[in-house]
Amino acid sequence: MSNFYKKILENNKKWVEDKLAIDLNYFEDLAKGQKPPLLWIGCSDSRVPANEIIGAKPGEVFVHRNIANMVVHSDMNMLSVLDYAVNVLKVKHVIVCGHYGCGGVKAAMGNDSIGIIDNWIRHIKNVYRLHNVYLDSIVDETERFNAFVEINAKEQVFDLSRTSIVQNAWKNGQDLTLHGWVYGLNSGFVTDLNVNVSSNNELDEVYQLNL
Ligand code: ZN
Repeated sequence: MSNFYKKILENNKKWVEDKLAIDLNYFEDLAKGQKPPLLWIGCSDSRVPANEIIGAKPGEVFVHRNIANMVVHSDMNMLSVLDYAVNVLKVKHVIVCGHYGCGGVKAAMGNDSIGIIDNWIRHIKNVYRLHNVYLDSIVDETERFNAFVEINAKEQVFDLSRTSIVQNAWKNGQDLTLHGWVYGLNSGFVTDLNVNVSSNNELDEVYQLNL
């Protein structure tokens, strides 16, 4: 076994010991159930660990991660996580968190074929096409990349707001707000993109469902 593999098993034992040293009932209490106030939709990137960034303890954040924090409304995995979070756990906030330096977003700006992932990246390319006039007007490539990361996170918030799950929750008077963030890999800080959506009146008319 590699040293790394052994190390992570040891780390787990140490982590359990540390938790029990503070509270003997820590795991028994957690095992009783969860009531997280937040659903996090983030990138799979290993440098963007949801809990750590926001100082959330086990039990405080329900997490869905994929390449480039996409909300693809035919993705059964995402829809199942969202449905459970909204309708069973009754989360009050959903945060879509993108991050600067995102490999998925970068790939969407280029033309390289990487493999089957090309088909996932296409969802991100669709976001580029929607904003191509603005994005193409940014001459500096890094600035354009950063702007695309921000726009992509915002678009995923809008996609969330158009789902039947979220519109139903709002119709039922549920307290649910969607947010878009971007995380800085080289600073550790998140930026709130101020796309806080909390009712379906804010949607383009064509997306509004009469529920
Ligand atoms: Zn990423």
